[in-house]
Amino acid sequence: MTAAPPRTAAEFAAAWDLPMRTIRSMPGALDALPDVAAELLPAGELGLLHDGIPKAVGASDVLTAVRDRLAGRSVRTVTAAVGAHGVVLDEATVRAAVDGSRGVTGLISVGSGTVSDLGKAVAAELDLPLVAVQTAASVNGYADSLSVLVRNGAKRTLPTTWPRGLVIDHDVVGQAPRALTRSGIGDAVAAWVAPADWYLANALGMDQGWDEDAIAPVVRAAQPLIDLDPAEPAALAALLDILTIGGLAIGHTGSTAGLSGVEHLISHLLDMAAMAAGTGHDLHGAQVGVATVVSCALWEIALQDIDLGSLEPAALVPPEDLQERVLASWAGLDPTGRVGAECWRSVRRKFDMWATNGGAVRAFFDDWPRHEAILRRLAHPPEKPATALANWSATRTFSALTPAVDAKLARWALRSLPFMRDRFTLTDLLLLAGRWDDALIDRVLDRAAGAGGGL
Ligand SMILES: [Zn+2]
Repeated sequence: MTAAPPRTAAEFAAAWDLPMRTIRSMPGALDALPDVAAELLPAGELGLLHDGIPKAVGASDVLTAVRDRLAGRSVRTVTAAVGAHGVVLDEATVRAAVDGSRGVTGLISVGSGTVSDLGKAVAAELDLPLVAVQTAASVNGYADSLSVLVRNGAKRTLPTTWPRGLVIDHDVVGQAPRALTRSGIGDAVAAWVAPADWYLANALGMDQGWDEDAIAPVVRAAQPLIDLDPAEPAALAALLDILTIGGLAIGHTGSTAGLSGVEHLISHLLDMAAMAAGTGHDLHGAQVGVATVVSCALWEIALQDIDLGSLEPAALVPPEDLQERVLASWAGLDPTGRVGAECWRSVRRKFDMWATNGGAVRAFFDDWPRHEAILRRLAHPPEKPATALANWSATRTFSALTPAVDAKLARWALRSLPFMRDRFTLTDLLLLAGRWDDALIDRVLDRAAGAGGGL
């Protein structure tokens, strides 16, 4: 008799032999916290990491509810600095939280994605066990071992550490602001296109670790986002499942790449533009949702209209003015040149690698029909994420983001996609082919608009 395939997040964590096994995801899960803390966090003072923003559970406050459940243990509250645009995990913010946590024997982070990422960074720095109390269904980053941190003004996904335990109280998440839940939908729909970018990078020898067994369950788990009525409690549970399984898959593969392609790059670019300009930006998942419709449109055009398989491998070379184009992308936002220099280091690494990679590239084009069939399976039509976003009343267009992203900024983000970091995506291949230009970007935006997204 063979064991049944894993279905729940905890079953995937066990099947993949991950360091995070203790997952309590249900209504009332906060009641499990005393047992989880006793099991996973050693005796001594606990650090309770949060952002100071009140979060309701029933008529109480989540932080109070957590403290009540830890009665009898010594608890030190560590409050992350909240700026005009929320908690920004730059060098200073992480250092302050690390300094504030020195001497505790274990950490509990209480909050949404940013606080959870901060908890993982502090736990890694101080080599402490961490339990994450997830207060929103906003991103998939709770259940993995990576944090999105800001280094030299650029968003970077860096390895930190696994929470040992994850507590998701559906009563808490159900009371979180609706915008956070809608943002979770946006992060979740990326499963319908991001794997195509990751597969492409692997097939071209620009990444390693392609693992369809890790990604397929996440894609399967996304279907209820279209099928279920968001008013049903089962819909929130399904959203939490896809986010948690997605996080586990990221941790299991050791990279966000499987669920973070062009659509995530667009969101990171919008964040960086807002940071540089000192303005606000919308939630990560809200931006990712809008960008997923765009990325699906791009993949559809690349596979149906641009005959990728006919590209001549020897002709795939970076533009001669690559460095100027990278620096120019950022010059308007950061006249000091710091962000441009940081991005150029990464982009140069990417295309240096491309230059040494000719064998894998030729092999890819020799075997194009097989790769094409896989890519067509991984990249879904733009109507699919657009339908899920509409089902949850989540944002589908750049102009509906808060604050609105105008056509100029959206086009800048798309144009800059190959110019930000070392992760290879479809836009890099198109840049190498001399096809990543304003005419193609306009076609992509038009196709996304046809699906209810785009500008
Ligand atoms: Zn994400």
